[in-house]
Amino acid sequence: MALAHVASLRSEDPFRKVGAVALDWENRVIGTAYNGLAPKFDAPPGFWDDRERRRKFMLHAEVNLCSLFRRGEARLVAVTTKPCTSCMQMLCAYGICEIHYDEDYPDSDADDLAALYGIRLERISDFPRAGATPPVEPHLLVSS
Ligand SMILES: [Zn+2]
Repeated sequence: MALAHVASLRSEDPFRKVGAVALDWENRVIGTAYNGLAPKFDAPPGFWDDRERRRKFMLHAEVNLCSLFRRGEARLVAVTTKPCTSCMQMLCAYGICEIHYDEDYPDSDADDLAALYGIRLERISDFPRAGATPPVEPHLLVSS
């Protein structure tokens, strides 16, 4: 979840930054993503000024994440905000078994989809957060 939050920092969206990370069947990170515009598209001046106008053009973090692997390759997805209904449908199609999220998104039908398809959908709030990490032991900073 901490990694998903770091990924969200890359989002250009000034109104909502969402990050996501996918783990494979051996808990290896196979991708990180965030909400944003299509690859190689540069927003024209003023694009970000209108919050409502920009919404339909934003690719959700889960969409960008699923572009990084094939169906069945990822077991777990952690996303900073509960998936919207559309993204939850896509995560189902990609065979994701477990989904962790931090912030709630009440307008989503993710809970219903998870219940029907037997996907574990869990809110995670206990994870390392920026600014709240314990000091690093000096001996850990020295490479051996
Ligand atoms: Zn979505």
